[in-house]
Parts: sequence; structure tokens; C-alpha cells
Amino acid sequence: MLEIVPLPAFQDNYIWTLRQGGHAAVVDPGEAGPVKQYLEREGLRLAAILATHHHPDHVGGIAELVAAGKVPVFGPKGEPIPAMTRPVAQDDRLEIPELAATFSVLAIPGHTRAHVAYYGLGSLFCGDTLFACGCGRVFEGTPEQMLHSLTKLAALPDETKVYCGHEYTLANIRFARAVDPDNRMLAAREARARKLRDAGLPTLPSTLGEERATNPFLRCAEPAVVESANKYLGARASDPVRVFAAIRDWKNKF
Ligand SMILES: [Zn+2]
Repeated sequence: MLEIVPLPAFQDNYIWTLRQGGHAAVVDPGEAGPVKQYLEREGLRLAAILATHHHPDHVGGIAELVAAGKVPVFGPKGEPIPAMTRPVAQDDRLEIPELAATFSVLAIPGHTRAHVAYYGLGSLFCGDTLFACGCGRVFEGTPEQMLHSLTKLAALPDETKVYCGHEYTLANIRFARAVDPDNRMLAAREARARKLRDAGLPTLPSTLGEERATNPFLRCAEPAVVESANKYLGARASDPVRVFAAIRDWKNKF
């Protein structure tokens, strides 16, 4: 059975590692060290590298990993991914035969110009676009693009497991509670996440159902979120893009 393992990197990144039999694939290896150590310890051969976007904390380890042996490097067409051999775009499908795994590619621009997500095996690898109870900063796109990308991800089935790039969950929940104070599922989520962190465990993966119920950035049409955004703006706005832009701006300063 295919297993998905988080390899912690830097302060709060996760390098998601998919393993099956004697093979493994890694998503967003920002550094090579933790991957090399894990592969060696477990006696695994690297079969593929998947990159969601070009930021160094997601791709910094690729050059060193491919130097150790030839493997396909999938990444967004139009972004400078080191050693990329297989540029991908919306609706492309990629196969990792060694893992008997197939993923479809979703274009989710906003955090970066051509950010992609990989969806397959009931799992979503979404880099820095959708976080547990939050979303990435809008660096290279517009709030409208980012909201569109998040809405695209939110359309996947409830039970989809969400594997994002960082352990930001507790801080995200604190902000979400300020935006959506009467959401009781948020309080429960905070208690669960705190317990996991206290035990030194990741809060990930979450599920899309959980995100839809608690993540304010997926709830820009909910009256409670609209009202909080209006208070922050000091204006009346119900257009989801304005609501999204307001809470994204608020989060940057929170
Ligand atoms: Zn990033």
C-alpha cells in the first residue's frame, strides 16, 4: 500500500514523501538532506520529484537529488524549476509507474504565477496555495486569481486529504477565530491541532470537508466572514473577491 510520510525541513516545511515497495517520490524538496537520509535509512530509490512552485524552500534540494541519479522532475510550465524535465499544466496527467500512482494537474495561480497542485489517490498536494485553515500570500497573481484557485480546490470531494507545504495550522486557526468567531467547528479544530502539536505531530493532512467548514478563505460568501471583512474594511462589500482581498490583507497584518 502506498504510504505518505512528512519529512520536516527548515522551520516549518514538509517534504511529502510517497512510498510504495522500494520506491519513493517527493513533493517540494526544499532541501536534499532530509530526503537523502530518509531514502538511505529506508532503502528506497527515488522515482520522481514533484514541484508545486518555484520558491526556494520548495525546490532548493532538487539539483542535489537529481545529481545522485536520474529522475523525472515535474513542475509548473512557466516557472524556473531547477532540473525540470516534465513541465506540466492544467489537465495534464502524470504517472509514476514505480508507485502505480497517477495524478492530475490543477493550475492554481496566485501565490506564484503558475503554481500547480497534484491530485490523485484521494490526496491533494497544494504547496503554498491552500493551507490548513489558511491560504498562501498572493505574491505573483491577483486576489481574484487566488480566490479562483482556492475555489477550484474547494470543489474536490470532502474526503480529499490536503497535504500542504507548511505547518502553519495553529497560527491560521487563531486568525480564523478572529474572522469567524462563532464557528464552533473552529474551536474544536483548535483543540485537536493543539493536542497534535503538543505531541510533536503534524496537523496534516486535513480534509477538504474540514477546510470548507473552517477555513475563512474558502468561506468568503459566508455572512459571518463577510461581516468581519466589512468591519476590517470599514465599508460594505459582499463581492467575494473584495471579501477575500480584505481578509488576506488582514491576515498579513495579524
Ligand atoms: Zn511559496
